[in-house]
Amino acid sequence: MILDSAEESAPFYANRRKSLKWKIIERDLDGLLVTNMVNVRYLTGFTGTSGMVLITDDKDHFLTDFRYTTQAKDQVIGPAITEYRDPLNTLSDLLANLKIKKLGFEADHVSVTRAEELKAKLGGVEIHPATGLTESVRIVKDEQEIEAFKALFTMLEKTFPLALEIIRPGECERDVAVKLEHRLRKLGADEKAFDFIVASGHRSSMPHGVATEKTINKGELVILDWGAKRWGYHSDNTRTFAVGDVDEELLKIYDIVLEANRAAIGFVKPGVTVKQVDNVAREIIKEAGYGYAFGHGTGHGVGLDIHEKPTVSWRSETEIESGMVFTIEPGIYLPGKGGVRIEDMIHVTKHGCEVLSAAIPKELIQL
Ligand code: ZN
Ligand code: ZN
Repeated sequence: MILDSAEESAPFYANRRKSLKWKIIERDLDGLLVTNMVNVRYLTGFTGTSGMVLITDDKDHFLTDFRYTTQAKDQVIGPAITEYRDPLNTLSDLLANLKIKKLGFEADHVSVTRAEELKAKLGGVEIHPATGLTESVRIVKDEQEIEAFKALFTMLEKTFPLALEIIRPGECERDVAVKLEHRLRKLGADEKAFDFIVASGHRSSMPHGVATEKTINKGELVILDWGAKRWGYHSDNTRTFAVGDVDEELLKIYDIVLEANRAAIGFVKPGVTVKQVDNVAREIIKEAGYGYAFGHGTGHGVGLDIHEKPTVSWRSETEIESGMVFTIEPGIYLPGKGGVRIEDMIHVTKHGCEVLSAAIPKELIQL
């Protein structure tokens, strides 16, 4: 794994910082101060909880406190490492040395109080909100990240047979979640990617029904929404199962959701918009008469955050690019009766997409 080696990862981090430099120049800034720790990790590989990165058109700088200096020296290759006692004083000196006059900062991750403090302490430097800059680089994944997703999906594939074994009448939702998480960790996951949704029977009509003490019964649909996390990366997958014989209408909505899922995935390619992809899934569900029962967007980007750009919804005109990774997860939820969601994670390629969760079967499985 590239991500297991700081040396092998270094060129990827360098490339990301380079892409960011172009965006900084486009915005007419001299530098960007990155303080969101997820973005810091994305740009340097640093996994600690305190530190910041200063991207400039010349050398990049990594600033952290004494607790993390040793870790930073191991993990951060390329940027100059500076230890601070008072972060703003150290930053102020550094900006003066580098003659930075216009500095962008991550306004959406900095409180108003902190922004005021920045302005006061960095007197002489113009501070500009530069929201979403690093995120606009993160939206396209590189080889190192795709390798991480594939390793995460191998863990899910290997755990899937256990799901088929334990989802049965008499088992409680919470136990299913705990057992699956345990197996994923045995297979190398650091932790679960989010609180698993195990929603059975009437609870499956709630799109976000996290696992409870409820017992699974015959005749119910069970939605399992799960994922593993490692190297900071998330995976996200949903399958819906039938326990015993289920109501005919539930079988019908399964087929509709599966058709919507497949059609949307088949439509994905560079150049189309996420709105169009959403529309492909939505139209199929609408035409079948269940438009009212599909209340959420069709998908979302996944990476160092479980929900990131692009948001695949009817509200977004974002154009799909090769290298993007996002979910396709249409659903139909019938209150009181049951729901179906089928979620795959896909990687956009030059002419279409690769389904990262392809090895996890999505035809209806009756348990
Ligand atoms: Zn999910
Ligand atoms: Zn999702």
